[in-house]
Amino acid sequence: MRTDLDDRAVLVTGGVSGIGLACARAFRAEGARVGVIDREPGPGVVQADVTDEPALAAAVAEVAGGFGGLDAVVGCAGISGPVGAPLAATAAADVARVLAVNVTGQFLLVKHALPWLADGGAVVLLGSDSAFTAAPGMVPYCASKGAVVAMTRALAVELPGIRVNCVCPSVVDTPMARADLGAVLDDPAFPVQAAADVARQVLFLASPASRPVNGQALLADFGMSAR
Ligand code: NAD
Repeated sequence: MRTDLDDRAVLVTGGVSGIGLACARAFRAEGARVGVIDREPGPGVVQADVTDEPALAAAVAEVAGGFGGLDAVVGCAGISGPVGAPLAATAAADVARVLAVNVTGQFLLVKHALPWLADGGAVVLLGSDSAFTAAPGMVPYCASKGAVVAMTRALAVELPGIRVNCVCPSVVDTPMARADLGAVLDDPAFPVQAAADVARQVLFLASPASRPVNGQALLADFGMSAR
């Protein structure tokens, strides 16, 4: 696939770890100029919490201003929240925190990147198969990812000239999944994809190869939801 991303300016949130890190590497491998925002430090990373609007706005302006604009924005910053907790042990504050990072953080990213995005630019958000298929003990996370899918459609309608899509992978081998699921990831019978697999899905949605695709959720779950 030709991605035509050479010299494109790309902003990735959550690029210090997991899927965001794989996306930053994959875009660079295609010749793109990549800026990373994360709450954690890293080489060349602009540090900001995506739920802190003034800090995020300043970080976006720093990255985008340095590039003189943006061609693509990828929202990978996210948290899983209290996975495995029974509902009775799930506090309203747990729900609020997951929604703040996974939903409001994505909204704020798009809001503050918009003035910098070129006509024809692309936004790719991280959803999850948890928007479509649930597992026990993940109510806040599933709610947040359902919201990301609905927000993707709403943003696509709201923003003419900008394509907005999301990727919805099943379990991906990242530090987040390791912390939540542990050794299950090493079971050969358990379908797991690599962060680099998701990065290729993101690359497709950020590139002109997906030009007619807008407002969509790319459900990449080995067909599990089709059963
Ligand atoms: P990860 O924990 O490996 O990486 C997440 C990154 O986001 C980290 O660098 C972290 O510092 C950053 N981050 C978290 N909260 C932040 C905040 N408030 N402000 C700024 N940065 C913040 O996780 P991952 O598995 O790579 O997940 C990335 C995205 O992919 C998330 O939205 C996650 O829900 C989604 N996802 C993951 C899986 C999976 O199985 N790993 C599956 C489907 C979707």
